Amino acid sequence: KIAVVGSINLDLVVPVPKHPRPGETVLGGDLAEHPGGKGANQAVAAARMGASVAMLGRVGADDAGARLRRVLDLEGVDTTRVLPVDGLPTGRALIAVDHTTGENSIIVSPGANTALSPEHCASEGALLRDATVTLLQHEVPPETVAAAARLAGGTVLLNPAPARELALDLLHMVDLLVPNRGELASLVGHPLPDLHAVADAARQLRGPAAVVVTLGAEGALLCEDGAVAFVPPHPVAPLDTTAAGDAFCGALASGLVDGRSLHEAVRRANVAAALSTTLAGAQPSLPTREEVARALGE
Ligand code: ADP
Repeated sequence: KIAVVGSINLDLVVPVPKHPRPGETVLGGDLAEHPGGKGANQAVAAARMGASVAMLGRVGADDAGARLRRVLDLEGVDTTRVLPVDGLPTGRALIAVDHTTGENSIIVSPGANTALSPEHCASEGALLRDATVTLLQHEVPPETVAAAARLAGGTVLLNPAPARELALDLLHMVDLLVPNRGELASLVGHPLPDLHAVADAARQLRGPAAVVVTLGAEGALLCEDGAVAFVPPHPVAPLDTTAAGDAFCGALASGLVDGRSLHEAVRRANVAAALSTTLAGAQPSLPTREEVARALGE
């Protein structure tokens, strides 16, 4: 079983010919609304890969919150611990997607996600203790992430996104850290111009037993016990990279719950994430177990 302690957002997506600079206005295409939030996306990604998933999260006591909960229910995610909170709106993400490159830029307004507290985690201690994998991200308060990591009985997988300062003691409670290249650079505090620098940075991180760095179109890098392995990308024509990292983390957690080796779980996560870039939106683009198996020729 996978426990996800994380964010639930409504994504407001606009295609743009180019991203606006400060002070600039660009005319975009038609607005689309999709369920999102890194926590919810990763929960759905893992559920579509066949895992049994329970989510701890907060939404507003509003229409968007009720809708997002229903969507998670329909995906088979256990939402009994997704509670509405009074006085805060459901989290939103404002997403601009460049319609030629597929590259996105995002503003997150966390709203109700800020009310997910350490006490909330403590009251669900049994769930966290019994979970095979606890999946965490940086879209809920840092003290909540730390509380969940402390209470987790199984593998703690932290996707440190979006980048923010990481307390050393939290890093030591993490078993598997899954940053993208930019997040790794911000963790080590210097730029990573090439893959050698990425490998060195992953090796240099103290705390997590293993580090998996997602490298966009270049695939992923796995660093375990000081040994580094590159996992080549699954070739695709990307349309929208929103939630590629979430597809990766959810599939990775699901692979671990299936009892696969870390390397094999990374290989499948790479394929799941690549497939997710070929469709628009966050959750709508997440592939199923069958789609990943087909892409692998199984
Ligand atoms: P994030 O979306 O969090 O910034 P990345 O850009 O590193 O993270 O992408 C996450 C994963 O998605 C990559 O490790 C890779 O598996 C997959 N991916 C992303 N872009 C592509 C691409 N153009 N081709 C193939 N795979 C991709």
